[in-house]
Amino acid sequence: MLRSYLGEPMPIVALATPPGESAISVIRTSGPGAIERAASCFSRPAALLAAPGHTLVHGELVDPVSGEPLDEVLAAVFRSPRSATGEDGVEFSCHGSPAVVRRALSVLEAAGFAPALPGEYSFRAFMHGKTDLARAEAVQELVRARSDGARAEALRRLEGGLSRRIAAARSRLVDALAEVQARLDYGEDEAEAGDGFDPAPLRELRASLAALAGSYAAGRMHGEGARVVVAGRPNAGKSSLFNLLLREERAIVASEPGTTRDWIEAGVELEGMYLRLVDTAGLRDAASEIEAEGVARSRRLAGEADLALYVVDGVAGLRSEDEAFLRERPDALAVWNKIDSAACRPAPEGFVPVSAADGAGLAALVSSLAGRLASGFGAGPFAVRGGAEREVLVASARQKSLLDESLAAIDSCLAEEKAGAPLDALALELGAAADALGEITGEIASAEVFEAVFSRFCVGK
Ligand code: GDP
Repeated sequence: MLRSYLGEPMPIVALATPPGESAISVIRTSGPGAIERAASCFSRPAALLAAPGHTLVHGELVDPVSGEPLDEVLAAVFRSPRSATGEDGVEFSCHGSPAVVRRALSVLEAAGFAPALPGEYSFRAFMHGKTDLARAEAVQELVRARSDGARAEALRRLEGGLSRRIAAARSRLVDALAEVQARLDYGEDEAEAGDGFDPAPLRELRASLAALAGSYAAGRMHGEGARVVVAGRPNAGKSSLFNLLLREERAIVASEPGTTRDWIEAGVELEGMYLRLVDTAGLRDAASEIEAEGVARSRRLAGEADLALYVVDGVAGLRSEDEAFLRERPDALAVWNKIDSAACRPAPEGFVPVSAADGAGLAALVSSLAGRLASGFGAGPFAVRGGAEREVLVASARQKSLLDESLAAIDSCLAEEKAGAPLDALALELGAAADALGEITGEIASAEVFEAVFSRFCVGK
């Protein structure tokens, strides 16, 4: 039978480290009876059963049926409620061998552990009050962070920066609602037509929530990375520049025009920001059908990008297609390539001169790129380095849409108050606004919400 997050809490097991060869692999267990079940597969069961929480026990994982030792391990014992999940658990550090892990998991499953669902440990931590939903999401964001900026932002959310702001806003809404409700309950004569409801604090709260919702653009950029498309005519040196920026040979570099018919994407961290660099097919009048497809795609990719890096061959000079592209995308970062060549013409105003061949001008190009993207990333990791206290960013689409929902309810409340609507109509909107915020931290959330949030997590987290 398929298990669900909200089913009977049974002991679970999962590999918490990546599968494959490594120095160490960690197998995590959690749930009622986890220590007893783990002890049944351990060479020193009595020592494991007697071990206090937060201690290590050295021994061997054994197959309880045959008695065969599987690996020499360290077992970390956690006792409820002082554990990450709030439950009993044992974490085995074994040798990072796929053969060991396979046998260990099968023995533990035979001993009564169910394979964990994605994010089930985090789900249990949430259910036992160890974390809220926004902070659980931050753990996953931290696991997935691909740049220093994304790491710093996720950590701020994990430390509760976002949860505190949401909780404070929600409690202000709940207070306002309680006040309105009290007037309704006591049936004051003047409790009609929104009388006595002061909209000023609600407007103030609205502004602060709107700023938080607005931070999603930067939060998303940290999480997903900025999409930077390298465009230009065939042979301008796009692939060479792409490779130089990646410092690895992933794109095909060839002197035949139009080799990069499709596009290649690769991630790179640049001054704490994560970039998804896309090398496109050359922009030119298509000679062949495949190339035509590639050209159309590269125009579309450049159109959807956060930034277009437009490369011009400084030896060939500026052509009408180049001018047309730059007119279409005046925000593109224009690059004048091949400055190492004696035949290269002087770079026109506004172009960053580089040589993709020998790397000349790369530092200036990187700093222009970072400068262009920094505003999209919010103040980015730069402010963190300065030690300044920063606003927390919203990084999940779920949280953003709930903030929007709350804002819409606040707007309705303010509009109704202005139109002289009765207090009970205002109460309804205030309640909806508070509930949407409660769903962000998980104070109010349904089984489907849990399922949707935790199923996107890694297994073992
Ligand atoms: P793409 O078609 O725009 O991707 O261009 P490529 O990166 O494939 O380069 C086309 C040709 O120009 C190749 O022969 C490269 O070696 C050459 N090339 C690229 N960048 C430079 C450069 O900075 N200087 C010189 N001299 N040649 C370059």
